[in-house]
Amino acid sequence: MFRFLLFLIVFVTPFQSQSQTDLSYYISQNVNLNPNIPTPESVIGHQVGEWHITHDKLVEYMKALAKSSDRITLKDRGQTFENRPLLLLTITSPENHKNIEAIQTAHIEATDAKSANAAHRPIVVYQGFSIHGNEPSGTNAALLVAYYLAAAEGKAINDLLEHTVILFDPALNPDGLQRFAYWANTNKNINLNPDPNDREYSEIWPGGRTNHYWFDMNRDWLPVQLPESRARIETFHNWMPNILTDHHEMGTNASFFFQPGVPSRTHPLTPQLNQELTKNIATYHAKAFDKIGSLYYSEESFDDFYYGKGSTFPDINGGIGILFEQASSRGHIQESDNGLLTFPFTIKNQYTAALSTLEAAHSMRQEILEYQHQFYKNVKEEAAKEGKKAIVFGDEKDAAKTFHLAEILKRHRITFHEVKSDFSKDGKNYKKGYSYVVPKNQKNPRLINAMFETRTTFKDSLFYDVSAWTFPLAFNVDYTETTTAHAGTVVTDLKHQQGGVSQQSEYAYLFEWHEYYAPQLLNSILNKGLRAKVALKRFKANGKSYDYGTIMVPAKNQDFTPSEIYSFLKDKAEESHIQINAVATGLNEGIDLGSRNFRTLELPKIALLVGDGITSYDAGEIWHLFDTRYNIVATKLDTKNFSRADLSRYNTIIMVNSNGGLSENNTKKLHSWIRNGGTLVAYKNALKWLNSKKIMTIDFKKNKLIAKNISFEARRNFRGAQVIGGAIFEAELDRSHPINFGYKNNTLALFRNSTLFINEDKNSYNNPIQYTKNPLLSGYISEENLDSISKTVPFKIGKIGRGKIIGFTDNTNFRAFWYGTNKLLMNAIFFREEM
Ligand SMILES: [Zn+2]
Repeated sequence: MFRFLLFLIVFVTPFQSQSQTDLSYYISQNVNLNPNIPTPESVIGHQVGEWHITHDKLVEYMKALAKSSDRITLKDRGQTFENRPLLLLTITSPENHKNIEAIQTAHIEATDAKSANAAHRPIVVYQGFSIHGNEPSGTNAALLVAYYLAAAEGKAINDLLEHTVILFDPALNPDGLQRFAYWANTNKNINLNPDPNDREYSEIWPGGRTNHYWFDMNRDWLPVQLPESRARIETFHNWMPNILTDHHEMGTNASFFFQPGVPSRTHPLTPQLNQELTKNIATYHAKAFDKIGSLYYSEESFDDFYYGKGSTFPDINGGIGILFEQASSRGHIQESDNGLLTFPFTIKNQYTAALSTLEAAHSMRQEILEYQHQFYKNVKEEAAKEGKKAIVFGDEKDAAKTFHLAEILKRHRITFHEVKSDFSKDGKNYKKGYSYVVPKNQKNPRLINAMFETRTTFKDSLFYDVSAWTFPLAFNVDYTETTTAHAGTVVTDLKHQQGGVSQQSEYAYLFEWHEYYAPQLLNSILNKGLRAKVALKRFKANGKSYDYGTIMVPAKNQDFTPSEIYSFLKDKAEESHIQINAVATGLNEGIDLGSRNFRTLELPKIALLVGDGITSYDAGEIWHLFDTRYNIVATKLDTKNFSRADLSRYNTIIMVNSNGGLSENNTKKLHSWIRNGGTLVAYKNALKWLNSKKIMTIDFKKNKLIAKNISFEARRNFRGAQVIGGAIFEAELDRSHPINFGYKNNTLALFRNSTLFINEDKNSYNNPIQYTKNPLLSGYISEENLDSISKTVPFKIGKIGRGKIIGFTDNTNFRAFWYGTNKLLMNAIFFREEM
């Protein structure tokens, strides 16, 4: 028996995989293929599906295709963090290529014109693959789709290419794809092993799903914070595709999903017709899958709510976004509920869906072109009704943060203006250079609404992702409705404020803490070895008011001469876009510069815990924040090396959300490091863990939920409704507490996706951040949870020996676009000794 099994494994499996990876396994025998077009195998050295394609080989093949086919042009749109090219293939008929610019212009004009003729215009389809790098069937199928589009011959393909412009993005996440391909390939057996326990099917932390800084890039289509998204969004707005497809993978035991998703979870700003067209397109997928005998489903899961996802973003821009999810073989073959799931089979399904999309686009071309034209006609009417209405946003104390919000508008081609002259509304000042006016009467007011609106009532209580992302709240800028009467010139050249030093001083320099890049400046000062102090109280110097958290750098008794200090500060002030003021006297109104309320700061030496048990997204967000925005070098300390690391090198350790925490011995080690004066900054479930280990006592509010009159079938929805998938809440700030230095308002919007509620401390000064009585600003929360959150605290300090724990119940750095709460973390790091 054993020998027979061995025979089966050795001979049958390779045979099976061989027959499956032949081109004929994927491409219909009825298709004539041009022999002058290189097959994937001839360039990459293996059959598609035999190995996982690495990004460098993918690039090589796409270049070879573009070179050999007059249907394809190739553009390099920039680079990932790891310097991989962000390729875009434009695929259409050779005739169309000759007037591609005219076609593009006519396509965009149809979204602006009063009437447009769809009879002869090509439809524009953006096909994107594997934005999650460890969902590889998409990108591996892209090799075949591109080959087919270049090599197929005959009337059908000619007709398709004549009427279609395909924007082909073979790898939406090159860095993640490369990371995953390395894993799957290095663990592959010659004799494929489908046992799910094999190492091949469980990647090491953090896995290949994310990009270099561990971001889920399929949440960044609206915030556009990452280079991969920036290139893609530029292409999107240059072309305004009618259909955009996003090829993913899901659990191994599933089948294949195509949109529409759950109908009740469609964002209300998306037209109903969008979903109907999606459903009509789905009939083409169904037909193609019926033909090859593959199982599939739609409408039961996934949704079109959060516009930051690739399959939903087009829906607010007059296009139709479509999500595909293929059951993942992860490696090369895996046991599943549907039998052996081979990698080639997953590729074949993605290939099939890509072609059925093109068939649908071709057949429904006029209808879909007309839909886009009508979408913009309708929103133009909506815009006209808004008349002179506008939104103004800004922060009179923080130009850089305002700049970065404006930058998002610019990337989405939203028009905005300088304020004509400084004005105030509702007690907030809107200053020129620190705020912008966005008129509602412009091309796509729906997109503006999607970014600025708050929403607290919903049809459904379940969300695939966050239920709110209101940008001015995430950026913590002031904003309000106004009119275009306050609009000055249109901003075409968005610029940072000029930073600098007023003059050389022989006494001291001062700068306030409000600006977004103040931590970058302070870090460079401390890193240089200059002494700097923080003001614990407000004061007035030279007639100017300085807020809590003002930084003072004395000119004397430093290791550098006053002129060296001046030129260093000048450079750094320019880099960080901050104005530094020179002062000639220490005598102030309020505290003087020699006061004990100016406290000497110590350079943070930071270890960021990463590795098994740590949520990679949350850790990656901090790594990205430090590395790309503040130039702070933190050590990524892997939990597996914790026991042998010398912790005395660090004065600050950051532990983001963690399930399970550390081992017994490592817990003891961490505990004694804190007792000896270390500061642990802990987030979310790390707090629960610290509480369970009795390292820090936290009074969590308990919420007992009992199902009454809930059927078995409805149990998931019942539980799901208690999840806070991501919503925005208001807290009151005690601005005199160092955790709140740099905030100018008494309230702050906080992101929350946990249900950790901490009861307030009986001493009010221990509650510097506290949710208001009715704190929901935007997004979904159940009534029970809203009741629970009221007056609780999202922030807690525990003093342990000579050290402390600074705890947050929620992420302050969510997805790189929550600029508004980054300063809470920076305060915890720089002012830890003062709390
Ligand atoms: Zn995915």
